[in-house]
Amino acid sequence: MGNKEQSMSIVLENVIVSDANSAKKVNLRIENGLISALDENPLPISPGDTVVAGEGKLALPGFVNAHTHLPMSLFRGLADDIPLDTWLREHIWPAEKRLTAADVYWGSLLSLAEMIKSGTTQVADMYFHTDSVARAVSEAHMRATISYGIVANKLDKHGKDELAMARETIERWHGAANGRIRAALSPHAIYTCGRDVWAAAIDLAHEKNVPLHTHLCETRDEVAWSLTNLGQTPVLALDEIGAFSIPTIAAHCVHVSEEEMAILAQRSVTAVHCPKSNAKLGNGHAPVVSLLRAGVNVALGTDGAASNNGQDMIEEMRMASLLSKGALEDPTALPAREVAMMATHNGAEALGAGARRISTGEDADIVLVDLSGVDTVPAYEPFSTLVYAAHGCDVTDVIVAGEFLLRDRKLFTIDEEQVKYEVNRRFGKAFAN
Ligand SMILES: [Zn+2]
Repeated sequence: MGNKEQSMSIVLENVIVSDANSAKKVNLRIENGLISALDENPLPISPGDTVVAGEGKLALPGFVNAHTHLPMSLFRGLADDIPLDTWLREHIWPAEKRLTAADVYWGSLLSLAEMIKSGTTQVADMYFHTDSVARAVSEAHMRATISYGIVANKLDKHGKDELAMARETIERWHGAANGRIRAALSPHAIYTCGRDVWAAAIDLAHEKNVPLHTHLCETRDEVAWSLTNLGQTPVLALDEIGAFSIPTIAAHCVHVSEEEMAILAQRSVTAVHCPKSNAKLGNGHAPVVSLLRAGVNVALGTDGAASNNGQDMIEEMRMASLLSKGALEDPTALPAREVAMMATHNGAEALGAGARRISTGEDADIVLVDLSGVDTVPAYEPFSTLVYAAHGCDVTDVIVAGEFLLRDRKLFTIDEEQVKYEVNRRFGKAFAN
């Protein structure tokens, strides 16, 4: 779809870009997947250029959703307002057991469509049927770090099979789709993988030179389990077995001490803050301001859509900032610019790909957010407007590696109607007319 257009250079005219001190209008040229020019003066236009009028639109590096489970949009609203343990054991795990590879493919496309339409260009995913996840990502032309979620108490036959699946995912997909797909290694969590499984996973991550992606200190129960069964907190136990000798994407980090934060900062661990999922499942609120102050790279993620129930990074930024202000009783906590950095720059750092900022030579992963709507005018300060007032549906255009994935709210790489039809056909029986 849109192949003719994809091969052209793109010029974004009069878009708003904002750095730490000021906002200004600039013109951007995008070619060969990179930002090749940035100028406050008009850029020369060549025949064949695609010119986008950016008046009133904020240009940002794409949002990086640094922790999600793409196919879980299939379980959006399946079971809400119940305790975590019941939610997992009686609803989510039985439903996951019934998923086919085709279900996972359509669920992934559903999530990717929602994400692109709200400005996300890159994700870190953890699930199973990873071939289906990767196929969807490849077709959607998104960037993703994918991984097979290992769940095994021991390195027995089952444990070895799980490791083999993780290895296969890395060998098949790391570097695929022109480098837009990367792989990670995902022991699911400290309480779902035994010590020997963790040790084997760490060895494999070293061998393949890929990051770890795991869940860490999500609940009080997890910390209590670790203290009872391992005699240490999850952070200290994983540090001791060498997990953090590898760059690690650690989702949640809700229940961590000051001492543990210092360890995470020293060991190049990215804490992925998932404020809405943590709040919805009643797990508490991560000490984001303290983590940042300790020097930890903090990114932002939605977690799966079963516990969110959306995947809109603008809403996630707003939740992050407001919940921190509320928890700390401090309106200066997690200001708009800082939370926007978490949602873009810090996530790209953690995943080792995509644009860190809007400047020449950077990957052309750019989203345009319309700040001229009734929900956003007058836009006194672009980042305040973005974080506290805007919505995912204000994203008009999304470019990944120099290609349009969304233009004027229209998806270029995903057939939205077909995806909704397939998902409803498979899962919407109770409600479909
Ligand atoms: Zn998760």
